[in-house]
Amino acid sequence: MTDELKPCPFCGSTDLEVMDIDQGYAAIACGLCDAFGPMGLGGEGASAEWNQRVFEDAAF
Ligand SMILES: [Zn+2]
Repeated sequence: MTDELKPCPFCGSTDLEVMDIDQGYAAIACGLCDAFGPMGLGGEGASAEWNQRVFEDAAF
């Protein structure tokens, strides 16, 4: 588990975990408010997607 994830844009929590979706894809999920980020390939891809989108698209 990476420790480089940005905090959740909705609640500021750093209680984030990798959620396995399907076919090797995963997404980062917030353990506090249940928000989750876009899917990426594996935990690393999901982390990258989360960090990219977390502040530029904080309204979904
Ligand atoms: Zn949250």
